[in-house]
Amino acid sequence: MKPHPAQRVRNVSSPVTPHHGVRRIDLSSAQLASSELARDINRDIVLEFIRFRQPVSRVDLSRLSGLQPSTISAIVEDLMEEGWVREGAVVRGGRGRPSTMLLVNDDLVTLALDIRPGQAIVAVVDLSGHFLSHETVVTEAEPRAAIAKLVKKMRMLRSKHKDKTFEGVGVSVPGRIDPVTHRLLMAPNLGWEGFDIRAALEKGMGLQVEIDNDANACLLSELWFGRLDGIRNAVLVAVSEGLGTAILAGGQMHSGYNGLAGEFGHIPVDPKGPMCGCGQRGCWETVASSRVALDAYRKLSPRSHVGDIRTLLRMAQDGDAVAAKAIRTQAVALGRGLRLITAALSPERILITGELTACWELVGPVIQQELQRGMLAGPPPQLTTAGDGYLARLSGGAALLLQRHSHYHRSTHGTRARKPIRKGRAQKVERTSKV
Ligand SMILES: [Zn+2]
Repeated sequence: MKPHPAQRVRNVSSPVTPHHGVRRIDLSSAQLASSELARDINRDIVLEFIRFRQPVSRVDLSRLSGLQPSTISAIVEDLMEEGWVREGAVVRGGRGRPSTMLLVNDDLVTLALDIRPGQAIVAVVDLSGHFLSHETVVTEAEPRAAIAKLVKKMRMLRSKHKDKTFEGVGVSVPGRIDPVTHRLLMAPNLGWEGFDIRAALEKGMGLQVEIDNDANACLLSELWFGRLDGIRNAVLVAVSEGLGTAILAGGQMHSGYNGLAGEFGHIPVDPKGPMCGCGQRGCWETVASSRVALDAYRKLSPRSHVGDIRTLLRMAQDGDAVAAKAIRTQAVALGRGLRLITAALSPERILITGELTACWELVGPVIQQELQRGMLAGPPPQLTTAGDGYLARLSGGAALLLQRHSHYHRSTHGTRARKPIRKGRAQKVERTSKV
């Protein structure tokens, strides 16, 4: 079903509530509804309508959004100046003048980088979330050497797409980023704490870089590429070498005061459990990450050699009973741990992403059963997989760059002003018409 753009718009802006009574406003951070703010919000709405209804005419945009035709024309002109939108075919309808259809600009692409321990995936992704190419790179443990190798690979990818305009690099990492310094705050499985990935990549690529936690990137991908329409409360659990979590609360991504909200993977669930990379014992991720399935298999079948989770999942799919049992051990622990999430946040939907989802017909029912058992009251949240487990972090990387330009991001992060995509057009962008 085609998602309705208006619902997405509600996801990224404040909910509209009837103003009867008094609303408490924090005067220390209140932002007046200036004409510039109204213009920015309208611009984001129009761009969303174009992304989801393309090809679409200016007349249709006016009808869909309720904005005046003159306002639509001014916004579309700006979006074309900035490089987001292009004109397509001229269509003659039954009545009236012919209309020029509008589309998002496919020539505009982002580099997406998904960094994992020991390897990374680099990709070229367009505005609609389509992959033009992607490659896996084995990386060194030392961050400088790893980034140097990735820069070389990304430069190569860029040179393969000379006809495209590169908007920047969107990076997902298995760790938390300090919202102020942009350095890695915590990355137990990667071990690059304190390293400034963003600065190193910006220097190496000469492009703007946006970076966030891998789970946040996946949830953003769901939000931007339209699979969460109408849902305002959701939690995504990224299952890999560790467990990452991302939170959508009341329609907004929630990262808390210091960027560390949602570290459910590091809540201890077994005080006698294994040591965790974070220094505590028995965290949820020590009993429910992909490493647990591999360890369980090695215990059950000590003489076999299975090096990675993908192989183990394939074996389970091919009917290997021991592999299936090991995967099920992980699924039970995952499902039980979801109680942490339902009790804390009461989401409408829980999304699972990671290699494990390749075996969803085996693990899905197990997780669902444990989730249901763990409910305090009421029906459990919907349980689904998030996009393509393998590619979700990459399209999330692209979404990180897209959101930098949205009103939502500017109002909640506020650290970087919107930049025109093409150099030398700043003057024209400033000359935005009144709304
Ligand atoms: Zn831990």
